[in-house]
Amino acid sequence: MQILLVEDDLPLATGLKHALKKQGYAVNHVETGTACLQTIGIDRPDIVILDLGLPDLDGLDVLKQLGNIASSLPVLVLTARSSSDEKVLGLDSGADDYLAKPFEMTELLARLRVFERRLSSTNSSTITIKNVTLDINEHLVTVDNNEIELSRKEYMLLKSLMENIGKIQTRSKLESRLYGWNEEVASNAIEVHIHHLRKKLGVNFIKTVRGVGYKVDVKSEKADTL
Ligand code: CA
Repeated sequence: MQILLVEDDLPLATGLKHALKKQGYAVNHVETGTACLQTIGIDRPDIVILDLGLPDLDGLDVLKQLGNIASSLPVLVLTARSSSDEKVLGLDSGADDYLAKPFEMTELLARLRVFERRLSSTNSSTITIKNVTLDINEHLVTVDNNEIELSRKEYMLLKSLMENIGKIQTRSKLESRLYGWNEEVASNAIEVHIHHLRKKLGVNFIKTVRGVGYKVDVKSEKADTL
């Protein structure tokens, strides 16, 4: 899950980045509305967290422009403006949700989980493929009904694959979902996570598409159906 954070308050942005990364989100940060709009065209995130009080453009204008260039992109607005009139204005301008500053981190994380659920192709809070079930609300994974321990990155990687069942996820796409722009990523980082996931899920659950990436299929290989 890749989040674009648009926030000019640097201490707040740093705190948010830290907390979101801890949850396994890949977070990219820009400080201006212009940078936000430019970024959307180049590296489209899954969710935008947008501060309305920006130094260059009015956040509501940014919101409208985002609606024009990426209408399906979910936007969570953060703002110190909290009168209910402005709340309605924000939602009318295309925000999917609205959080008034100051807010609790737990509240922001809860809202993000709602977005994640909406973004999931299944429209349900759990995805089950073969003997593996992923619960998006609880961030937990079971194999044959037994809960397994995954790191945040492993969880996010598995989620990307399970949400895109049957579709190949390229290594670079997976990397952009797991790591922000400035994060040091070892060239074999995805392979290492896949290796760990296979130890926990069984070797056949995630298929390697040689030279391209990985996928999870509904159909079992012959070897699985014995
Ligand atoms: Ca601001």
